[in-house]
Amino acid sequence: MVLYTKSMSNLVEIKDLPPININQYKDLDEGYFGELSELSKQLLDKPIIHINATASGGGVAEMLRSQVPFERALGLKSKWYTIDNAFPDFFAATKKVHNLLQGEVGELDDEEKSIYLKTNKELGNSLEKILSELRSGIVIIHDPQLLALINHIPHNFPLIFRLHIDISTPNHKTLEFFRPYIKRFSYVVLSNKAYIPSMPWLNEEKVKIIYPAIDPLTDKNRPLSEKIAWDMLEEFEINPLHPLITQVSRFDPWKDPLGVIHAYYLAKNEIPDLQLVLSGFIVAQDDPEAEKIFKIVKKHAKGDPDIFLFADPEKLGSISNDVFINALYTASTIVIQKSIREGFGLTITEAMFKGKPLIAGTTLGSLAQIKHEKNGLLVSTSEETSEAIIKLIKNEKLREKLGKEAHRTASKNFTIPKMILEHLKIYNELS
Ligand code: UDP
Repeated sequence: MVLYTKSMSNLVEIKDLPPININQYKDLDEGYFGELSELSKQLLDKPIIHINATASGGGVAEMLRSQVPFERALGLKSKWYTIDNAFPDFFAATKKVHNLLQGEVGELDDEEKSIYLKTNKELGNSLEKILSELRSGIVIIHDPQLLALINHIPHNFPLIFRLHIDISTPNHKTLEFFRPYIKRFSYVVLSNKAYIPSMPWLNEEKVKIIYPAIDPLTDKNRPLSEKIAWDMLEEFEINPLHPLITQVSRFDPWKDPLGVIHAYYLAKNEIPDLQLVLSGFIVAQDDPEAEKIFKIVKKHAKGDPDIFLFADPEKLGSISNDVFINALYTASTIVIQKSIREGFGLTITEAMFKGKPLIAGTTLGSLAQIKHEKNGLLVSTSEETSEAIIKLIKNEKLREKLGKEAHRTASKNFTIPKMILEHLKIYNELS
């Protein structure tokens, strides 16, 4: 039995978004800028309201932090709202939704449905106030946590549902619960066309595929010297003379941190000085599972002095998360992303953009980005991961070849100008 003793949940605007200088992106242009400025002309001063569950932690927040300033720099009036003050039970229920839609067995119980709807109603009241100050605009709801907000959006606001997760093998009962909401959106944007068959009741004309993307100019993705990176990592006793493999991911079963540790132990038999970093700073308010998974991971690491775990943001002191993640990618001999499910996997893109050799679990997200043995290695088991680690550590030329090709793929296909262009096309259609 849940006791409702706290105040109402609200939507709050994320205001700490520094403006960007769009000209800096023109130097990285892959040929998208002409079209970008053309399309944005018809959208000047158009309010674009992005809404998601959390301001930090995970790929959606990562993208919105760049997407919103980028759209503003093009002349749109983009804003980003997220949840303030929701019950832990709400996030427990929405994490369950996430897991069920990615294929976990089970179902939402009545209490979980009720807390989901009740919180969406409270947030909806706050959204009504926000929209009442605008004459028109486009609302984009990211992920299922806030789908039921649709009940609170007036008809003059066209609506986009942006789903970031892998729903290729969904729990159908859960998807049925969301179906009436999803059907009412003007457009549903997915990260992969492989997810379309899961929603046969959706008019295909309403579906758009947009690949997520990274911002090459953030502190996380811009070039960093190896010296600076290693100076930073040495503070945490990571040894610059020994090979380093790294996975950057929330502590979540779909990211298979235990599988990574198992692969590391197997590879260590052959490469005794191998070091492993798992970085998953616990900041996302919508991921209440992370603490529990981290405890299990810690047990599996068994105090091995060559395994370095990062979960508590306090551990970084004055270093920012983004600079630290940049240092990890820069210094790593190999980056791992051994996920079991991955809607897209921005960490894959980040490592590829850094020109790193990458070993990734065979998911739909990694298949969209990696061609096996061309710009990375795809694996399915810990044994295969360990073999791939050994092969790459012993073969510098192969590491260089894969890394170079990976950088080329990420720069061409998965950087923010292209992603924004795809959004502007939809905004124009809706206008
Ligand atoms: N991330 C981070 N610090 C960490 C772990 C992850 O900044 O310790 C970031 C990572 O760099 C990436 C995002 O979180 O930008 C994860 O996005 P992805 O799409 O890979 O996975 P999601 O968490 O959304 O499932």
